Amino acid sequence: MTKIGVLGLQGAVREHIHSIEASGAEGLIIKRKEQLEDIDGLILPGGESTAMRRLIDKYDFLEPLKAFGQSGKPIFGTCAGMILLAKEINGQEFAHLELMDMKVERNAFGRQKESFETKLPIKGIAEDFDAVFIRAPYVLEVGDQVEVLATFNGNIVAAQQDHYLCSAFHPELTDDHRVTGHFVKMVKERS
Ligand code: GLN
Repeated sequence: MTKIGVLGLQGAVREHIHSIEASGAEGLIIKRKEQLEDIDGLILPGGESTAMRRLIDKYDFLEPLKAFGQSGKPIFGTCAGMILLAKEINGQEFAHLELMDMKVERNAFGRQKESFETKLPIKGIAEDFDAVFIRAPYVLEVGDQVEVLATFNGNIVAAQQDHYLCSAFHPELTDDHRVTGHFVKMVKERS
């Protein structure tokens, strides 16, 4: 069976495992870099990207995570995970994994909109996806290789670049598993 890991250092991990299993793959919580060898694809969950980065450094995960993506294995970054994937973070000198050719803005929806839910059309995936945003980022700019999958008020909130997928919202928090299902399909096609 296709095995999909969820980086389990910090953040919303269990809900992703549930959503992976509801989409017909096996879900594994990844806490050690050696476990990356056992999986066909990886989800970087939501949480707090700066806290996640500290733990990534503490457990020596940065290079193994980059190598995992560069070897062609699919990675899906949700919310803080999307920030980890980006090549550039607005206003910061350094980014994290730098695997997706895009520039992101953290906490981009402002204080009044700390969290909200909206129905979004997502290209090729859903017409009416209930998207939950929590202190969410959005994408300011994308490179030529990046396909925009969804926008909200003109801002990019989901995108794909070959085997990398990202969403500013949390697709694991409702019973609608179509976005996770799309990622599971990407992994199955490549494994
Ligand atoms: N605001 C968080 C960050 O910058 C992301 C929030 C989330 O993942 N729900 O990392």
